[in-house]
Amino acid sequence: MPIQKTTEKVNVNNRRIINGKDADVMQLYPIKHKFAWDAYIVGNANHWLPTEISMQKDVEQWKSPYVLSADERLALETVLGFFTTADSIAANNLVLATYKHITSPECRLYLLRQAYEEAIHTHAYQYIVESLGMDESRLFNMYREHEAIYNKDAFVLTFNEGIFDPHFATGTFASDQKFLENMVVFSIILEGIFFYSSFAVMFGFQRQNKMVGAAEQIQYIMRDESMHLNFGIDMINVIKQEQPELWTSDFQSHVRDLVRKAVALEYTFAENVFPRGIFGMNADGFRQYIEHIADRRLQRIGLLSEFQSANPFPWMSEAIDLAKEKNFFETRVIEYQTGGTLEWE
Ligand code: FE
Repeated sequence: MPIQKTTEKVNVNNRRIINGKDADVMQLYPIKHKFAWDAYIVGNANHWLPTEISMQKDVEQWKSPYVLSADERLALETVLGFFTTADSIAANNLVLATYKHITSPECRLYLLRQAYEEAIHTHAYQYIVESLGMDESRLFNMYREHEAIYNKDAFVLTFNEGIFDPHFATGTFASDQKFLENMVVFSIILEGIFFYSSFAVMFGFQRQNKMVGAAEQIQYIMRDESMHLNFGIDMINVIKQEQPELWTSDFQSHVRDLVRKAVALEYTFAENVFPRGIFGMNADGFRQYIEHIADRRLQRIGLLSEFQSANPFPWMSEAIDLAKEKNFFETRVIEYQTGGTLEWE
């Protein structure tokens, strides 16, 4: 759309997450959705790169026949089989489905940061797979071969079909609800539920002092993902305020139904990851854990909890709080390849 030449200033009161009236998505200021600016600042402060973390001990442990059991190897490969493509699915949705329909420039700003973080996560999985000498073509193709991973990804991907349509536009009751449904599925379900059994497995390794380089990277990924989830929840809750007519009781029960389906898919995946249990975590523990986090997601968007399951893995909330363990940037000297130099060819 050509820009209109005018001295008339933007009325920030017209700014909306979607359907902003006369939205000028170029003018960051004045900011209305402050949570988005705050998230952008925190995202930058949390910057990290996978190659800053040593994989040396992991390589020794992976190559040794004595350190990891057959079940632990299966679990590591299966969670990596999910991880390797999950952040690409998230990134594609952000860039191709979400971004163009968002009319808040500050939300767009954070989405750009988030999209870059999804790229860093894909880089991390590539770095882990390559360092351990795993078969890349097998690991990256697992989302099309492994039944439980395929079912999770296929479920999520059905919800951007309509939004990927070049003729899709927000602005009607039906299309706005469809867009909100996409946000619920990608934030609450993909980023908020489908990553979490795999996170728990990786912290299981970490607690045993195994695969610590891979686990540390996953810890940074989990910190980023919890920011993505919080941002998604904030956007959903603000859209609910800006367009309360969308949040019908039918839509609310639809969301609950989707979350129930997601919990079943995630539980089936978890059973596949450790058919005989791992690190003292058994199938029943994982079921409770998945139900527990699903309830928390439902509550955050103003819905009643569904399962009332207690958290069987309280150490998972500690794993999220990296500050307790160490300050990443104080324990490392980081020399970025291009940072701090103004010379180039
Ligand atoms: Fe993400």
